[in-house]
Amino acid sequence: MTARRALIAGNWKMNGLRADGLALAKDLAAWLDGEGRDASNRLDMLVCPPATLVALVAEAVTGSRLAVGGQDCHAAEAGAHTGDTSAWMLKDLGCGFVIVGHSERRTDHGESDETVRAKAAAALAAGLVPIICIGETEAERDAGRTLAVVSRQINGSLPEGATGTNVVIAYEPVWAIGTGRTPTTEDVAEVHARIRDEARGRLGAGADDLRILYGGSVKPGNAAELLGLADVDGALVGGASLKAADFQAIASAS
Ligand code: PGA
Repeated sequence: MTARRALIAGNWKMNGLRADGLALAKDLAAWLDGEGRDASNRLDMLVCPPATLVALVAEAVTGSRLAVGGQDCHAAEAGAHTGDTSAWMLKDLGCGFVIVGHSERRTDHGESDETVRAKAAAALAAGLVPIICIGETEAERDAGRTLAVVSRQINGSLPEGATGTNVVIAYEPVWAIGTGRTPTTEDVAEVHARIRDEARGRLGAGADDLRILYGGSVKPGNAAELLGLADVDGALVGGASLKAADFQAIASAS
């Protein structure tokens, strides 16, 4: 096993016009090369802007240590899919990553594990690292089904050809996203350990290299505690990634 390098990823969701996105990305890129150099020596930092800003942001941060990713991709390379973006198009813009299966897409767009797996496979084929999101709803947690749900999702969403280093898993309890609520550190530790065990069935020893991010109301105030857990290899950050100072504080805490 190689030491896992933390990944701090920002999911901007449907936020930002050109001026905001450009300013935020430039601020983060400059920080990684300056004051944040210590952080950038030990971790990877990624922003996932809305599709409209990917080209602008990718161009603005070329040559910096800030990576850029998409928030979703279609499973096909090209074709009659109005409004969609392919993994190959994101790669062409300079992306290295793409989020797939975010709970907002699973809910708003009815994405199943099968759809997510096909998208993750497309990402791999295009040379992108898919960040595959999984996580239970509040009702599933209340019914004591958290571990069963994440096990099903990980088995259903991991594509053929996945290894410990070409995919990333993000565990995001749906009820913790954008709510300010987080699971206890014991719960996060238990779920992340289960995800790694489950991944071992598919990836073998490669599971030890797999980066498993926690997402859901990560803030500067709780980042150190969450990121300090043994099987937490980074964070997928929504709201707090829209403010450079907060996102930098989260990276510094890891
Ligand atoms: P949040 O979002 O940090 O605003 O809770 C996380 C996510 O949805 O990825």
